[in-house]
Amino acid sequence: MSWGLANLNHAMRQPGCPLCRLQREAEARYLENLLWENVNDPATREQWAAGLGFCSRHAWQLQRLEARRYGDGLGNAILYEDLLQRILPVLETLARPPAEDPLSLYRRLGRFLPRFLDRGRALRGIPGLQGRQRCRVCRLGEETARAYAEWLIEGLAEADVRERYETSDGLCLPHLRMALSGARDRAPQAVAWLASHAAQRLQRLLGNLQEYIRKHDWNHRHEPMSHEERRAWIRAVAFFAGEVEDNGSLDDRGG
Ligand SMILES: [Zn+2]
Ligand SMILES: [Zn+2]
Repeated sequence: MSWGLANLNHAMRQPGCPLCRLQREAEARYLENLLWENVNDPATREQWAAGLGFCSRHAWQLQRLEARRYGDGLGNAILYEDLLQRILPVLETLARPPAEDPLSLYRRLGRFLPRFLDRGRALRGIPGLQGRQRCRVCRLGEETARAYAEWLIEGLAEADVRERYETSDGLCLPHLRMALSGARDRAPQAVAWLASHAAQRLQRLLGNLQEYIRKHDWNHRHEPMSHEERRAWIRAVAFFAGEVEDNGSLDDRGG
């Protein structure tokens, strides 16, 4: 069994979408390595600068990680000192407007346009105040998930992988889309199997959601709810939005 398939098998035994789990693990590993040894590594710093930091989710994940793991913020401090050095010259240049200040056009337009539109246009027009690339951690996480989606599609040719998948919580919608679209022409049988499995699983989720709603009705509120019914609304969020660590969807089948 390949290394990828072995990891996938392991993730399928855990709660939640297995690709979300593997993606989140890869993202967390990147952040841990960043703090552990790569804060001063030039290539890593280049990625950090190119994104002008990370997206909101990963920036705060890095902040929490350092606070919890080290009770300190030196790594974050070094990284943000770098970013401030990069954007301050941009702002200082803007603070010395030439005769025809491009911002003044937006300010004049602002009297006629809704405010948010004006602001959005002004920000898009100023290079240096936004990253040249998307968040490095998001990109790495997506590359990881795509690789595992490939392993899964190939693995579904084998009966034991299909069995393992059937006992898992299955893929969330973003990862189902990723797996299906990547394999549509290449592995039509795996695509059909995955789609039919998802349809069965969602049919059951729909039934649980409907029971959850029905049992909120005054006339039925004395009827006991099953564990699956109680969890249905949370599983629905996890299916459409993907899993996150913070709500416990990756850590706890109960709750
Ligand atoms: Zn997922
Ligand atoms: Zn991100």
